[in-house]
Amino acid sequence: MKWLTRGGLVAALCVGAAVGWGLGWRGLLVLLAFFVSGSLLTQLAGGAGGQRTARQVLANGGVAAGAALFGEWSVAVAALAAATADTWATEIGSFSPWPPRLVTTWSSVPAGTSGGITLLGTLGGAAGAVVMAWLAALVQPRGVALGSAALTAVAGLAGMFADSALGATIQGLFECPSCAARTEHTGTVCHEPVVLVRGRRWLDNDGVNLAATLAGAAVPLGWMLLR
Ligand SMILES: [Zn+2]
Repeated sequence: MKWLTRGGLVAALCVGAAVGWGLGWRGLLVLLAFFVSGSLLTQLAGGAGGQRTARQVLANGGVAAGAALFGEWSVAVAALAAATADTWATEIGSFSPWPPRLVTTWSSVPAGTSGGITLLGTLGGAAGAVVMAWLAALVQPRGVALGSAALTAVAGLAGMFADSALGATIQGLFECPSCAARTEHTGTVCHEPVVLVRGRRWLDNDGVNLAATLAGAAVPLGWMLLR
């Protein structure tokens, strides 16, 4: 049972150090809940995600680490709720009896396609957001508060939907010119080198995950600014 590559382990320790330094044991507990639940679900789902690399760890935990360094509890837990909702949606969604539909065009796509959603995955992601919001509200520095739990849950949902929307639109999608097989990885050589058919060449799944955690973090930030 290895959840991380060597680089992924170093990155996870850096994220843990930032969260522990900025938010103490409460932050570490929320971070651990994200990490352990996500890794267990990935393993249950067949481990198609494999070991997390440094890039993947930072895409999911970097925003929370940054917010923690500024002592921003609600922003950090919002980013973690977004990362959790994404992960739970992907892994629980892999058990869906029906193929995912693309969030933009509603056409059926193969399981695992970025931007594809299933009912089961969406419910699973929502459950992840709610569990993280509940946990964060229980341990938060100023005591239990339902309002902040609602805000964190909304942040988690926002992150999950941002992930699907970006995955279906601007994430790079490539195609083999010979056989029309599709891939999300630019370096792939199927029969010939793949060509870009949608989105941005440089924006991969890690970039979309980073953007999704930023979208989650924007919810409490916006709330603070607007209030
Ligand atoms: Zn091919």
